[in-house]
Amino acid sequence: ESDDHKGYAPICPAFEDFYTRRIYHRIQDCFGRPIASAPDAWIDVVERYSNDNNKTLHRTTQTTRCLNLGSYNYLGFAAGDEYCTPRVIESLNKYSPTTCSARVDAGTTKLHSELEELIARFVGKPAAVTFGMGYVTNSSIIPALVGEGGLIISDSLNHNSIVNGARASGAAVLVFEHNSPSQLEDLLREQMVMGQPCTGKPWKKIMVILEGIYSMEGEFCKLPEIVATCKKYKAYIYLDEAHSIGAVGKSGRGVCELLGVDPADVDIMMGTFTKSFGSCGGYIAASEEIIQYLKYTCPAHLYATSMSPPAVQQVLSAIKVVLAEDGSNRGAKKLAQIRESSNYFRSELKKMGFVVLGDNDSPIMSIMLYNLAKLPAFSRECLRRNVAVVIVAYPATPVLLARARICISASHTREDLIKGLKVISEVGGLVGAKCFPAEPEKI
Ligand code: PMP
Repeated sequence: ESDDHKGYAPICPAFEDFYTRRIYHRIQDCFGRPIASAPDAWIDVVERYSNDNNKTLHRTTQTTRCLNLGSYNYLGFAAGDEYCTPRVIESLNKYSPTTCSARVDAGTTKLHSELEELIARFVGKPAAVTFGMGYVTNSSIIPALVGEGGLIISDSLNHNSIVNGARASGAAVLVFEHNSPSQLEDLLREQMVMGQPCTGKPWKKIMVILEGIYSMEGEFCKLPEIVATCKKYKAYIYLDEAHSIGAVGKSGRGVCELLGVDPADVDIMMGTFTKSFGSCGGYIAASEEIIQYLKYTCPAHLYATSMSPPAVQQVLSAIKVVLAEDGSNRGAKKLAQIRESSNYFRSELKKMGFVVLGDNDSPIMSIMLYNLAKLPAFSRECLRRNVAVVIVAYPATPVLLARARICISASHTREDLIKGLKVISEVGGLVGAKCFPAEPEKI
């Protein structure tokens, strides 16, 4: 390949270039595998072949049935549900796949208004507004809330949509050590003395941004401590519940319910519909005043096409199941099952000798592989044994902290989990990913 960059600086910085073109390219078969089915407990992965040393992958018409340990389908609503699916089909016939319009124009259906009332009630805030994409919710709402003259203090492991939203806002950005309320307090203290700015920078406002469950670690945020700190220093809190809403808490209401925090103490609650509710889109729930302000200032509300009506209907139906408003107790069963399955899977992996990240009750867990060279071997050997896992490395994680990220779903049966564990144990042994001696099996 030519190194001639037309006399300009290269488009890709040297490390990105090395990483993405040289390394990523060689293991491209491990990423973006085409799938020919819904993201259920088992999926059909399209087989691919290469006749030029992996330079180009071609799709075949063959598919391989694999156990799916990668999708965020926490409550199992994404792959057809007896309550949701008939209603989604009906809404597709009635409303079509799209509104062909932004919310302020002709893009607000009855379903959108109904969902906004329901999601506000579900998370315990006075009002809510929805958007077509979770990523855009963060990247366009954060700049609508804080701008020049403001200060954002962001957890070091926040999602890329938050990082981009913070950058686009024009506010000053400080990063606090992941999940460290004490470091957050140090940063806030530096900005204030007795509630007064003391750094020569009279910030118009300060907003602390964190996530409910961190998506690459499976850890819960330290919400009670962070809420107390923010109250002390009069900082707003913005909480991204993409992975926690619907998935944790006694009735699925997320980390506030799980960790005993009053939703009134969290100023801005953000979440996505792409995980627990098996749909797409995002929301912001907050006070009436903030939601009204966002509706008339946020570009994603004013200029982007609204959520697809069948996607809205899917969320409406899924939340009704969670709230037992479908007349069954399936929601409670799903919540109990995801908790039980996640805790079982995590503790078995630890017993096998893996280093596993993630808190108890969290449906996300990462198996640390550390060495980048182990990633493709782990992924390919799992696939050969009909288990599809997601591998993650730089830039989604630090360079030396490469891992396989497992997501448990309520649609996994105990047999599915046992199959997954057996394969992971075998492959982990093969690639040398077990860092501790395995616990002897109990008879
Ligand atoms: N926030 C977090 C914490 C996420 O992990 C993600 C994506 N997984 C998003 C926002 C973006 O949401 P979406 O994929 O629904 O656009």
